[in-house]
Amino acid sequence: MRSKADVVIIGGGIIGVAVAFYLAKAKYGQIVLVEKDRFLGAGSTSKAAGGIRAQFSTKVNIEMSMLSEKLFCRFKEDTGSEALFDQVGYLFLLSEEADIVEYRKSYELQRSCGLKVEMLKPQEIAQYAPHVRTDDILMATFCHDDGLADPHEFLQGYEKADRQMGVEINLETEVTGFAVTSGKITAVKTNNGTIATPLVINCAGAYAGQIGKLVGASVPVLPYRRQCVTTGPLDFVKPFFPMVVDVKSGLYCHKESKGMLLGWADKKVSPGFDVSIDPEYTDAILERALDRIPQLETAEIANKWAGLYETTPDHRAIIGWEPHVEGMFHVTGFSGHGLMHAPAAGVVTAEMITGEKPSVDITDLSPERFAKGAVVEETNVI
Ligand SMILES: Cc1cc2nc3c(=O)[nH]c(=O)nc-3n(C[C@H](O)[C@H](O)[C@H](O)COP(=O)(O)OP(=O)(O)OC[C@H]3O[C@@H](n4cnc5c(N)ncnc54)[C@H](O)[C@@H]3O)c2cc1C
Repeated sequence: MRSKADVVIIGGGIIGVAVAFYLAKAKYGQIVLVEKDRFLGAGSTSKAAGGIRAQFSTKVNIEMSMLSEKLFCRFKEDTGSEALFDQVGYLFLLSEEADIVEYRKSYELQRSCGLKVEMLKPQEIAQYAPHVRTDDILMATFCHDDGLADPHEFLQGYEKADRQMGVEINLETEVTGFAVTSGKITAVKTNNGTIATPLVINCAGAYAGQIGKLVGASVPVLPYRRQCVTTGPLDFVKPFFPMVVDVKSGLYCHKESKGMLLGWADKKVSPGFDVSIDPEYTDAILERALDRIPQLETAEIANKWAGLYETTPDHRAIIGWEPHVEGMFHVTGFSGHGLMHAPAAGVVTAEMITGEKPSVDITDLSPERFAKGAVVEETNVI
């Protein structure tokens, strides 16, 4: 491991490798990435359901996704690695009047940002998602540019390009502290030694708050357990089946291999780092899935897992300079949409660090917003 670097990136999830990629492309000098686990993506990234969408309720999230979707489409051109962004679309099913009011507002905002989102009548849903029960559905929104991606493919593509561009990646290397002189970071301390550096990027996902604490900074990111289930092969799942979100129940599902992936965010879960599988949580997912897609009755469970959403108080990421110590930049707290925002997060971070104007106005994602009370909640969180 180098003893000196121009920048140390903490965390080898999708955000850390994307940030390293865009900094390396900008020829930022000696870039070192440290990951405490034995392999990259071991945190939330390997648990992601693979959904990529621009249908959000806040402008900054819509724009971050629209930029990311463009970059996912030209991933091979940019990184040299093949990775599929399957644009099968995202379908939000609405069965409550109050949700229609909210989603109509978001639809107007999304259209004003240039997103090709549509509002569908219940009878128009079957063309995209046959077998989904629609008798209680009043309306739906659909965007064809949204879709699905395998987190591992994109992570590995970035990793390969990072290494080719000279980024040093150190696994099993845990950040344990920092050296700070006159309010400036001068070094990162790890279990494998110290790296002198003037710049540290906090991409530690659910652990970002703990990294902040090491320098006395408050980074309001809390870990919340979320579970998913996959089924065995199902004849009725068509290749064009999109990500379907049942807004009332919170169920989300999409085709996965020859079957389906089913997920749901239990909003009653307390924060914590426990990622054991709770059978009651699994049952709650299956109950919602059966209610919406009765044909799942014959499905067999292939796999299940739990991971952490790295959640901020307003469900929007934190991207920007830490105000309390010089030399720390946060790129974290994506609140369940870190895979889909990774390319854009990499781009805007590299731009801010090299002193360029960011491609997306990310003022709303600044770390200072919580202290200033300038918090606008992202309401379209699954
Ligand atoms: C069940 C589930 C489904 C999801 N579905 C989607 C989805 O469909 N679409 C989507 O966009 N997002 C989804 N997400 C969210 C997405 O997975 C995360 O937002 C994203 O992976 C965050 O990436 P990250 O790199 O910030 O965090 P991580 O992948 O967690 O990476 C952070 C890394 O930092 C390392 N680290 C922590 N502390 C230290 C330290 N002290 N020293 C060194 N390394 C350290 C960790 O080991 C970890 O590998 C889902 C999440 C879950 C749990």
